Amino acid sequence: MADSQLLTDVRALVGRDYGRVYAWDEVNAPMIRQWCEIMGVDNPLYTDPTTAANSEQDGLVAPAAMLQVWCMEGLHANNYPPGSTTENPYEVLKLIEGYGYPSVVAVNSELTFNRNLRPGEKLYYTTRLDAVGDEKTTGLGTGFFVTLVMSYFVEHKSGDEAVGELLFRVFKFRPATDHSVKAEPAKAEPAPVIKRPKPGMSDDTRFFWEGCDAGKLLIQRCTQCQTLRHPPAPVCIECHSFDWDSVEASGRASLYSFVIMHYPEVAPFDHPNPIGLIELEEGVRLVAGLAGVTREDLRIGQALQLEFQTFDGEMTLPMFRPVAGQGA
Ligand code: ZN
Repeated sequence: MADSQLLTDVRALVGRDYGRVYAWDEVNAPMIRQWCEIMGVDNPLYTDPTTAANSEQDGLVAPAAMLQVWCMEGLHANNYPPGSTTENPYEVLKLIEGYGYPSVVAVNSELTFNRNLRPGEKLYYTTRLDAVGDEKTTGLGTGFFVTLVMSYFVEHKSGDEAVGELLFRVFKFRPATDHSVKAEPAKAEPAPVIKRPKPGMSDDTRFFWEGCDAGKLLIQRCTQCQTLRHPPAPVCIECHSFDWDSVEASGRASLYSFVIMHYPEVAPFDHPNPIGLIELEEGVRLVAGLAGVTREDLRIGQALQLEFQTFDGEMTLPMFRPVAGQGA
């Protein structure tokens, strides 16, 4: 059951009109051309003045679906032109959220157009909180359908003209599986163990991973021309031979390049996660994790030593650790 105070507060807001939000720019040809390019629209009524002038439109028009574009805030949030309202037409969402409905999902949007817009016209819109439904339970959770209607106008000296509407409906809800809003804290469950993703293994790469399991870093070698290669591949890039065997790397290497991955923070990897492009002394390179390093201490060319680490008790990976006292 929804809180009765919430229902009272919400009902007090329904029907409210929020002030004008102005467009930064008039309807204009460059924005139309760029929008059409991005959307893959090639109607000459939008972009070709000659064709448009000879059509029943008697000149360029803007794509109707651009209605919302003209009054957008731009790159930065809430960056609206001077004179625009500072009221928040979404205040009802914040209100509902305060009662324990943290999530939101867009449900549907309907555009209505009264006529075509032409370059040079300047728009603004106003927002009405059209409706908030009764509390409903859906597959997502329990909450409220909230409907806002933005009405778009073109300014005229003789009085402004309504040119279109945008209906926007969202579901503001408490997720069905949201443990954070349970009345009682859940019993302490052990945190799920997130394992390292396993490497893809094929007939070409199996020897490499089996080598790791045995504590050996194996490099593929063409038995025709003796060229070493990594990553493993079915054919020699030098002589095109399919015949190969492998040799065990010494484990001595140097840091050819590296990245420190900060985001996204993907469990179970370290944050930040240092990853090296390692040049083995045999001459081939491989990508591997770096052990016992800090960003400040990493130097291109520094000496590294192979070690194996086993993760999740089932996967052994080659890692590389700086050799003490041997910088670049
Ligand atoms: Zn070869």
